Amino acid sequence: MRWYEVRPVRFVIIGVALVGPTASILLALLLAGHVDALIALPALLVNVAVAVAILRMIQSDTRRLTDYAEVLGEASAPLPPPEVASVTAEFIASAMARAHQGWLDRESRDAGRAGLFEAVIDQLPDPVILLGQGREVQRANQAARNLFGDRIMARDLASTVRTPSLLEAADAVLAGGASRSVEVLLPVPVERTLQARVKPFRPPGEENGPLLVLLTLHDITMLKRAEQMRADFVANASHELRTPLAALIGFIETLRGPAKDDPAAHERFLGIMFDQSNRMSRLVNDLLSLSRIEMDEHSPPTTEIDVAKIVRNVAATLELRAASRKVKLRLEQPEPMPPVVGDEDQLSQVFQNLIDNAIKYGKEQTEVTVALTAPVNGKAGSVRGPAIMVAVTDRGDGIARTHLPRLTERFYRVDPARSRALGGTGLGLAIVKHIVNRHRGRLIIDSEVGKGSTFTVVLPAAKVVEGKREAG
Ligand code: ADP
Repeated sequence: MRWYEVRPVRFVIIGVALVGPTASILLALLLAGHVDALIALPALLVNVAVAVAILRMIQSDTRRLTDYAEVLGEASAPLPPPEVASVTAEFIASAMARAHQGWLDRESRDAGRAGLFEAVIDQLPDPVILLGQGREVQRANQAARNLFGDRIMARDLASTVRTPSLLEAADAVLAGGASRSVEVLLPVPVERTLQARVKPFRPPGEENGPLLVLLTLHDITMLKRAEQMRADFVANASHELRTPLAALIGFIETLRGPAKDDPAAHERFLGIMFDQSNRMSRLVNDLLSLSRIEMDEHSPPTTEIDVAKIVRNVAATLELRAASRKVKLRLEQPEPMPPVVGDEDQLSQVFQNLIDNAIKYGKEQTEVTVALTAPVNGKAGSVRGPAIMVAVTDRGDGIARTHLPRLTERFYRVDPARSRALGGTGLGLAIVKHIVNRHRGRLIIDSEVGKGSTFTVVLPAAKVVEGKREAG
């Protein structure tokens, strides 16, 4: 029912307003005898007829405008204004059409903005999840769906993530608690640690609506690993230094006390103390070079060098050491090597460490080969473009496959006692890896238990660009 149907009184008032003045003038003229009843009556009838016509026009225009307003409320596309009789109604109808068009434009702008925002949230690398009152997943961005699968949607979070601390945090926030942050460990497919931030959330404009939870997850696996490595490194370095230091202190005490007047003991103990001091010195030197290399790992070298010459020099300095183990050092270089953009001192250290290890861990009276090759423009160990390879092969006990991925970690040793007995610091291969990284090269380790190992360094060759040589 519409207002003009509920309030007919208004129509009566409008009717009286239209007919009243003419009727009263005609009545006054009739009573004064100025006009004949035969004229007054038809005039009054005409007036009534005109009033009724005007009223019907107003009623029909009003109905059309009301219907139009109701259809506009639901319409998602512009609607032409209805046909109306009066000019006023025509103005009103076109004003309504304009207002509707404005509203449609605003809505499509808002929808566009919301869609854009949704797309941006989908592009975020971190998972974002919106939980409803019942802890069910109402929304999840692409990263969240990639992490937990599409089946996460519309289900209790507990059916996907079983970390009790996260579920408790979500419950506490849903119950009105403050934001909190918890760590979530995902064991499969690969173990990862995520930092979850659980925040209360009320959509804008729904301040009195139910409280929701906004869950954002950030992968901190690498951070945790780095933290652990740093802690392990400090612990390992202190441990490595403590052992020779404890030995030195022990021997000094013995020399000052019980062995004070024993020249034979002096000789023996001083020898051990010398070895221990050397061990400490080697360790400190390796630690210093490692930290120096790490510092400039991100700025590649700029000078051109001849790797074959460096390898020959290093091999020459290690001849004596090789001879002490009756190991024969053999250099193989079937073709001339292209130059490499590199740091001569650092690459000397790489080959020194690798050849020294090969002598140390190779069997006595065997051969250590250092083979230099220049793969023709091909991919060599994922180094793209022209590269050179230096492969150091020993005939030792070899290394079991399980150790290979960890071999370049600091202080990682397959056999710690053997490494220490041979004077190793456990840092040699870590140094090699960092130097090779700085040269944008690669270290490849192949080994067969019982047969021996090959450590191959792949370095990009210097490129010739416009008659000038540059880093490859
Ligand atoms: P270290 O000072 O102990 O030699 P490295 O970092 O040079 O330290 O090497 C780490 C470990 O890798 C060694 O302790 C050893 O167990 C193993 N390793 C390195 N080179 C060889 C090799 N040529 N043959 C067998 N094992 C090796």
